Amino acid sequence: MTAELIDGKAFAQQLRGRVADAASRFHKDAGRIPGLAVVLVGEDPASSVYVKSKGKACLEAGMKSIEHRLPDTTNQADLIALVEQLNADDHVDGILVQLPLPGQIDDKAVIAAIDPAKDVDGFHVVNAGRLAVGEDALVPCTPLGCLMLLKDRMGDLTGLDAVVIGRSNIVGKPMAQLLLAESCTVTIAHSRTKDLAAVVRRADIVVAAVGRPEMVKGDWIKPGAVVIDVGINRVDVGEGKTKLVGDVAFDEAAAIASAVTPVPGGVGPMTIAVLLRNTVVAARARLGLAKDASL
Ligand code: NAD
Repeated sequence: MTAELIDGKAFAQQLRGRVADAASRFHKDAGRIPGLAVVLVGEDPASSVYVKSKGKACLEAGMKSIEHRLPDTTNQADLIALVEQLNADDHVDGILVQLPLPGQIDDKAVIAAIDPAKDVDGFHVVNAGRLAVGEDALVPCTPLGCLMLLKDRMGDLTGLDAVVIGRSNIVGKPMAQLLLAESCTVTIAHSRTKDLAAVVRRADIVVAAVGRPEMVKGDWIKPGAVVIDVGINRVDVGEGKTKLVGDVAFDEAAAIASAVTPVPGGVGPMTIAVLLRNTVVAARARLGLAKDASL
């Protein structure tokens, strides 16, 4: 391996420390601590683990965690009524509805009901629009975490060729907007892209957000490129055991890239750290307080 490992775990830990300091400054300014409300509908085990770790991280950062667990038979009107109640609650600065939602509920309708000022996931069309036109926005946590890792590693990104593989509203599209705002030349590749390998070979920056284990091969990578692997895929390794791998064939890419994120321990830990960061940012903005420069 010649590439440097981008240690998302260490970076996320540092960011969480900065968020804790910012939360305590907010406390001094506002007379209360920032609050994050997380809503989980149903019993999906993975979602349940995420919600638990979000709550724990919130408390560790000196913030208030409000958890609502609803049965998987919950109807859309009742969920939206809860969101509206949280919108109106002055002690709630951030609202996150854990996705996916059960089939009887339309994700889009629920996201649309969240007050954009409290939309710490950055999924509301108002925040997506603000990001697209270059206004202050709450930005989806995973792509913002990827950008932080890239800037930490590469500094100024102006003029670099960036290829984002994946066009989801949660990762691919906001990632592309963030890189465009950094003056990269951005290509969004997706399942219909022709000759993906050739497209990726042009990139100084590759962000893979596909959900296909080790799809991006080493010989797709331009020598010296920086590779951010967002994918989290559980694969069988025999004898009833599984392991997590990314969307990038790690060993192959690490022999050619200048830096690469591992899976696990790369992008994954950034998501919760940025969620906490977004909550403090939202809390300050709602109260008309100046931005906290440390975030
Ligand atoms: P998604 O399924 O919504 O989107 C996947 C995208 O990949 C689509 O836009 C599709 O066009 C593209 N795609 C599919 N097959 C392709 C192919 N053969 N070639 C090129 N493009 C192809 O997924 P998502 O929500 O954007 O997540 C992507 C991955 O990132 C998943 O593995 C997910 O688990 C992971 N993820 C990780 C975090 C984190 O915290 N690290 C957060 C969100 C998502």
